[in-house]
Amino acid sequence: MPGYEPSLQWQEPDRNQGSNNMGLTELWLKLAFQKPGCPICRLRQESEDRYLFNLLYEHVTDGITRMHLVHAMGLCSEHSWMLQATEFRHWHDGLGVGIIYEDLTERVLQSLYQYQASNSPSRISKRKALRQRLEHMGWFGRWLAQQLVREVPVESLLQQISPVDSCPACRIIEALEDNYLHSLVRQATVPEFRSWYAASDGLCLPHLRRALAYTKDEEVVRFLVEEAARRLGQLRVHLQEYVRKHAWDNRHESKTSLEQSSWIRAVAFFAGECREEREDVDQLRQKALDNYHKQAVMSSHEQ
Ligand SMILES: [Zn+2]
Ligand SMILES: [Zn+2]
Repeated sequence: MPGYEPSLQWQEPDRNQGSNNMGLTELWLKLAFQKPGCPICRLRQESEDRYLFNLLYEHVTDGITRMHLVHAMGLCSEHSWMLQATEFRHWHDGLGVGIIYEDLTERVLQSLYQYQASNSPSRISKRKALRQRLEHMGWFGRWLAQQLVREVPVESLLQQISPVDSCPACRIIEALEDNYLHSLVRQATVPEFRSWYAASDGLCLPHLRRALAYTKDEEVVRFLVEEAARRLGQLRVHLQEYVRKHAWDNRHESKTSLEQSSWIRAVAFFAGECREEREDVDQLRQKALDNYHKQAVMSSHEQ
């Protein structure tokens, strides 16, 4: 299938790469800078889509992938629903998801059956009778009863039906995000790369926090803070105007596109881009992003 990497494997990035040596990651960043919204959120979203597509396309029956899914008891809630939506979007079907969950269903069901079998009323009364007989045999009988006549505690069932590892999609996507952020702060010393970043919509707050934590270079920190302050300052003006123009006395004043989209852009800044597949949210955000770009030149005149 064109546009999708056939592998789920992830290689740790080469952190020793020279700062002026632009690799594939930097080029992905450059492309993301040209798209609306936080570039790392954008790349994260694309990586998630690619991962989930590849999982369904090539790895549903792969032993190692299945083992990871068993250890994590499937994917986290968010990625499970994204997986279901991905399969339906591409194939209008649920076979891959069905195969994954059939396996998991079987495993959980066996654990439940096992618990039921060892805790049925007849088993419990037999155990009780045996314990009573043994306990009448003195200390040795009591010791034997403790060793042999054990209840199957609910804790062991809980252990069997609980994940022992985190969601494999979360782990891989987190590593990819890390790689992009490390690359961004490493390249932020290069003037050309800075100009690409300055022309983008900038990082959302969660990604800005991570980027700032990933560098000790004061010049890079100053650059990222300066860029964030510039964008947030503009957003504050648009938000203030948006709120002010809702007042009864100002209702006749028309709102600019940037003001109209300010409340959505503010949420995107604080929470990161919307990842839920909701048409109404998506439409609103897309409208906000379109306006943001269309009006980018006008904004300097509006202030
Ligand atoms: Zn982000
Ligand atoms: Zn996850």
